Amino acid sequence: MIYDTHAHLDFVSEDKLEEIENNYKIGVVVSNSVNIFSNKKNLEISKKYSKIKFAAGLYPEETLKKEDYEELEKFVKENKKDVFSIGEIGMDFSRELPEKEIQEYVFEKQLELAEKLNLCVSIHTRKAEREIIEILREFPKVKRILHCFSGNFKLVKEALQIGCYFSIPTNIVRSEHFQKMVREIPREKILTETDTPYLSPFKETENEPANIVEAIKVISRIWEVSKEEAEKQIEDNFKKLFLN
Ligand SMILES: [Zn+2]
Repeated sequence: MIYDTHAHLDFVSEDKLEEIENNYKIGVVVSNSVNIFSNKKNLEISKKYSKIKFAAGLYPEETLKKEDYEELEKFVKENKKDVFSIGEIGMDFSRELPEKEIQEYVFEKQLELAEKLNLCVSIHTRKAEREIIEILREFPKVKRILHCFSGNFKLVKEALQIGCYFSIPTNIVRSEHFQKMVREIPREKILTETDTPYLSPFKETENEPANIVEAIKVISRIWEVSKEEAEKQIEDNFKKLFLN
């Protein structure tokens, strides 16, 4: 079975959601949220489809405010039994907004929440890799995944030392960087993701969870194992991290 640890299914059509639910190859898809509206939508979707799990979170999008965190916390507490994980959270210093101080505040608050609820987090970082690693050091108990990590290999090594997992996107099919990550990172730390509808392995198409098989093909070649073995390893990693 294939596991998609990071998708945005609030952006896809109802027909596609049906297709995901009926695809016998798919184990679990974790639908990540970016703002209050998307949290509500993803919760709703996860209640309707058994394979789709709800990740609650606030992404550092331009309009993010400190007060959004209180609203998220309230929402998470009210719907605790349906919250599978926390994501998409993180920091992005490649843009001017939101201000760094707001990004750090909301990121840290969400790590505190994940710690309290013993949930795994899916982290976005762009031009903030160093800062993210330093903050994560203060939360050693939080189970953490770096999603689609594009930092250099010195940072990859440091992230491994503080227990990070890495979810490898389907665009590994044409990315030397992600292929190298799969060569260098221990197999037990590798997960797969699509970031649906983004980062498709095929040009000019929307991504979808079924495309995880494309990532599996590349990963199995690099590991020199069968596709079934690669799939099994990643399934084990997923279960160990999320279901413990
Ligand atoms: Zn994402």
